[in-house]
Amino acid sequence: DMTHLIYPTTNFKAIEQVTVERGEGCYVWDNHGNKYLEGLAGLWCTALGYGNQEVIATATEQMNKLTFNHMFGGKTHQVAIDLADKLADMIPMKDAVISFGNSGSDANDTHIKLLRYYHEAIGKPHCRKIIARERSYHGVTVAAASLTGLPVTQNHFDLPIDALGILRTDHPHYYRGKQGEETEVEFVDRIVGNLEAMILREGPDTIAAFIAEPITGASGVIVPPEGYYQKVQAVLNRYDIMFWADEVITGFGRTGSDFGCNTMGIESPDMMTFAKQLSSAYMPISASAINREMYTAMIEQTATAGAFGHGYTYSGHPVACAVALKVLEIYQRDEIFEKAAITGKYLQKRLAEFSDHPLVGEVRGSGLLGAIELVADKKTGQPFVGGAVGGYAQKMAQDSGLLIRAVAGSSLGFCPPLIITEPQIDELIGKVSIALDKTLEHCHKHSLIV
Ligand code: PLP
Repeated sequence: DMTHLIYPTTNFKAIEQVTVERGEGCYVWDNHGNKYLEGLAGLWCTALGYGNQEVIATATEQMNKLTFNHMFGGKTHQVAIDLADKLADMIPMKDAVISFGNSGSDANDTHIKLLRYYHEAIGKPHCRKIIARERSYHGVTVAAASLTGLPVTQNHFDLPIDALGILRTDHPHYYRGKQGEETEVEFVDRIVGNLEAMILREGPDTIAAFIAEPITGASGVIVPPEGYYQKVQAVLNRYDIMFWADEVITGFGRTGSDFGCNTMGIESPDMMTFAKQLSSAYMPISASAINREMYTAMIEQTATAGAFGHGYTYSGHPVACAVALKVLEIYQRDEIFEKAAITGKYLQKRLAEFSDHPLVGEVRGSGLLGAIELVADKKTGQPFVGGAVGGYAQKMAQDSGLLIRAVAGSSLGFCPPLIITEPQIDELIGKVSIALDKTLEHCHKHSLIV
């Protein structure tokens, strides 16, 4: 039916939708009363599930007290200050300073501007390029999409924008990226070697930062091999290039520890981006964190320039801040990350059981984040052409009462709410099993599989 709605990241020729009507815990219901287990926490975000009365009460209370206040040039409110303090205390950066926004994309845009402003302030305006990886996802605004390494976010839009000076380096996915009989160590050494060669070619003093999701999400849940980040950080430190961790998906207990940087052994990132689980998606809010030295260096610059000319109407929205603050309190009080680490191990163990399935090329993940990559030829790992098979599997899962998402062609992504229980993981696995068998049948029938 024609409505007045443009759907995000959707083929306009195929806009068949599920109308989701309500949610409770790890489940949602559609308008026909069908119940679904949320296998992707909405869009990698509803950590505390649906209908958390404590969070709802906090939002109501804040709305009654103050629905809005902005923070431009001389205004503030306590709840944004409290949230910044709380977040700075939790994240693996020492003495972070934080800017709030509304989405992961706009938080990354903020960081691009902070990087420019900072380098101008320290007298290095030529130091402005940013290294991003193939198959990364950093959002879809004009600037964030320029960082993202997926053709679908760039084709037809004239992106990346040249002025941003985005450099592209290899993705760290061994299964898809290895050459010949290369071992994991050889693979890592080759791609980190490529990174260093590019830095030298471009001129190290022209490069401001390297951005990475500790574990990628939307581009297929890529868990880099052991030692990858240690080697990357050694190169970046050699040339004085900042490490910028995009923790929009991996933040807040998602990957088996508190933050993806800690799961992956990334040492003291200089900048971090957060959104999604920052508020369990009860309200839109994002955060861009920088280290104190960077902030301090910009203070004099604003005295000359008059203002740091960036900020959104809803930066630090009081209701979003109150909700996020409550969510962070619940994470700590109820030991949500610790519990999710245990259920995360269970999810990984159960997903790994699909390794023997004839359609499955690779099972990967960490904590409550995982993926199963479907392949046309299990022996060679030959991928399916396009995303149709992944889409079919996604639909079969949906028909059996499980919402998940096909990502990066034909990988099935898993990212249930952090509050999921082991029996609910068993339920999820049972539905995935049905979906995979139906997809296999479909592939045989249409000769899509070797
Ligand atoms: N960064 C990462 C790592 C993400 O996964 C996403 C969204 O999935 C974004 C940024 C963009 O966030 P948003 O969709 O809130 O703009």
